[in-house]
Parts: sequence; C-alpha cells; structure tokens
Amino acid sequence: MKQIVIATKNKGKAAEFKRFFQTYGIEAISLLEIDDHIPDVEETGTTFKENAALKAEQISKRLNQAVLADDSGLMIDALDGKPGVYSARYAGEPTDDLANMEKVLTEMADVPGDKRSARFICMLAVATPGKDTIFQEGVCEGTIGFVQKGTNGFGYDPIFIPTGIQATMAELSESEKNKISHRSKAIEKLERWIKAL
Ligand code: IMP
Repeated sequence: MKQIVIATKNKGKAAEFKRFFQTYGIEAISLLEIDDHIPDVEETGTTFKENAALKAEQISKRLNQAVLADDSGLMIDALDGKPGVYSARYAGEPTDDLANMEKVLTEMADVPGDKRSARFICMLAVATPGKDTIFQEGVCEGTIGFVQKGTNGFGYDPIFIPTGIQATMAELSESEKNKISHRSKAIEKLERWIKAL
C-alpha cells in the first residue's frame, strides 16, 4: 500500500491524515483531489462503525484502492448515548453547531454535575480491495458543562470538558486538543497497526 484515499472533503481532516501517512512513505489523497466525482455516501448506519465502514468500503470499491474513512460524534450518558451518530444534525438540517449545543443544554438543564458524563468517539475504517476492513476506535472521556465556553475547535467543543482538565475543549489550543482528542487516539492506534504490517 503506497497510496491511500482519505474519504473526506474536509481540508483540516485531510491535512491531519496527510501528515500522519507521510511519516510512513504513504501518499494520502483526499476526495477533494480526485477527478472522478465521488457522490456523498449516505450515512444510514446506526453505529459509528457501520457508517465508517459504509464510506470506506463503497469508495474503495469504486476506486479499487485503499480508502480510510472516519465517523465521529458525542455520546452523553444522561441522554442514553445521544446525539451519537446524529451529532452533526442533532438540531436538524442544515447542520448548525450552535443549535446542536443549545438543544443538548436544554435537554440537560435538570441534570446535576455528577450525572453529566459523556465521551467523544472516533471510528476509523480502512477498506482495501480483497481484504477485510480494519477498524480503530479512539475515545475522549469528559463531562458536559452548563454553559458554552471558548471559541476554538468546532462542533460541541464549547460544552465538552475533558476529564482531568479545568477547561472546555474549545478553550484548549489546537495542539493541546490534539494530545487528548478521540481522533488522535484512533490515529495513534492506526500507527501501531501500520507498524505491525
Ligand atoms: P463527522 O464524523 O466529522 O461527521 O462529525 C460528526 C459530528 O460530531 C460533528 O459535526 C460534530 O458535531 C461532532 N464532533 C466530532 N468530533 C468532534 C470534536 O472533536 N469536537 C466537537 N464536536 C465533534
């Protein structure tokens, strides 16, 4: 495997994966750089694993090469695991980070501090023609705050307080977030897998 396609049209995510694979002499190209127009894969799965597999396998089949896809989101215990796979569109479409956070804070208005546990999950899937798809999961544990704080990051970062840190994810710098995030933990596990190849 000398080239891998990253199933994303998100420039930030693509850059993060490019840097990572470069270390191993693997060229990572994103869907933004591929001429063949790839239609968006519908995320019809009910788990992060299903959605990551759907994206990686459908695009790998179409391009006949190795494809990495990711699916991530926030799971809140007091909301029975919601917003989960619906994290991006929790308050409806088009996706709206502020509306999503307001919906969560409203639903959790009566939940006391010690019952506000939550976690970010990132599932990575690598589909290779003729081989079984491999998966790696990264988790970042924390709690949901009572108000939004901080302006860095994206999504639910302003209301997520990582365990052991006295600040929300949105109050951390990019490099501080990268040390603890679900995405970097999943990538670290992928690194062990690549080394073992
Ligand atoms: P996707 O896997 O990139 O589609 O992310 C799904 C949704 O999960 C995003 O739209 C965010 O709402 C949420 N999410 C995933 N990762 C993060 C994160 O690092 N910080 C905040 N929200 C996140």
